[in-house]
Amino acid sequence: MPHQHFGNADNAITIDLNAITANWRYIDGLSAPTIKTAAVVKSNAYGLGSCEVATALARAGCKLFFVASLNEAIELRTLFRQTGHGDLTIMVFHSFQRGQEADFVAHQLEPVLNDLEQISRWRVYAAKMGIKLPASLHFDTGMNRLGLDADQTDWLIRNKKALNGLKLTYVMSHLVSGELINDPVNVRQLASFNKIHSSFSTIPASIANSAGSLLGSDYHFSMTRPGIALYGIHPLEDLDSPLQPAFEWQARILQIRNAAAGDKVGYGGTYQLDRDSQIATLGVGYADGYRRQLGGMATVSIGGRPAPVIGRVSMDSITVDVTGFNQGSLRTDTASLVHEDYPIEKMANDVGTIPYEIMTGLGHRAERYYRGGG
Ligand SMILES: *Cc1c(COP(=O)(O)O)cnc(C)c1O
Repeated sequence: MPHQHFGNADNAITIDLNAITANWRYIDGLSAPTIKTAAVVKSNAYGLGSCEVATALARAGCKLFFVASLNEAIELRTLFRQTGHGDLTIMVFHSFQRGQEADFVAHQLEPVLNDLEQISRWRVYAAKMGIKLPASLHFDTGMNRLGLDADQTDWLIRNKKALNGLKLTYVMSHLVSGELINDPVNVRQLASFNKIHSSFSTIPASIANSAGSLLGSDYHFSMTRPGIALYGIHPLEDLDSPLQPAFEWQARILQIRNAAAGDKVGYGGTYQLDRDSQIATLGVGYADGYRRQLGGMATVSIGGRPAPVIGRVSMDSITVDVTGFNQGSLRTDTASLVHEDYPIEKMANDVGTIPYEIMTGLGHRAERYYRGGG
């Protein structure tokens, strides 16, 4: 992507909406044409901006969106109503909490019901309103996080009347280790889910997140629900990823200084220069989601050349060694914080986390720019 504008911010994220829609089409193309491909846009579309991302995906033909919570869902429904996409389906992983029923109905939201009590409350509310309310059912097949446990599942299979009055759109489950292709847990969860689905065989089913979408047709059922893959991150860390990178993250060069051999850099003076050096100070810090542990580990790219991050990461800035760099590029270029030699997978790995956490930790101060998506 070409040169970056920062507005008044000191770091910026450029999001390629065409890459996101291309990734959605790619995942969509992995499953049979009759199988729906949803888009998971929770947590502000993994930090990239749920309004822009969801609008682009809606234009690309996506009809089904998942968020985690009611607030996220209302924001998305409001957007869809304003942009002529009012009929798209929004499903809420965390279901409704006591007292949120009216909001779910008013904003046409579908809860993913996670236990018998929620099922019963949704039914009671449907009866009170005199309408059939839509919902999906989440069965836990090994995650022990959300969804009906084995006892509740058995009870429901024996008492299907407990679902009367609901319009059930999907039965669902979630994979524990989908990104580990050969993990036997996948096959066990698939078997458990198939068994549960056989008791609700008239209801469409879904188990695949991004990783599950890549595990093959056994995992596709009637709908897949990719998140991370849409944002260009291959869940299997495939080196030949067919996914397109969806964002860049760049920082302004705030100042360039010369420092002498023996000088120390940054808080605590933890880094000592072993030669006369040139240091560039960049406008990004841990408050922007640039993790503090990256000092001494990461590189940034300036003028296509990697520059090591030296000294501690501050709240608002970092210092990088640019000794011997082209002076013209230091004056005119910005620094790419993730780049070919230092992709987000490596950044995440270096701080002991996963790209999901880095992305959702991207700060509010960064200016976000969008291309494509028309
Ligand atoms: C977040 C989430 C997804 C999407 O997962 P990715 O790994 O980002 O594709 C799908 N299903 C559920 C239940 C989730 O919580």
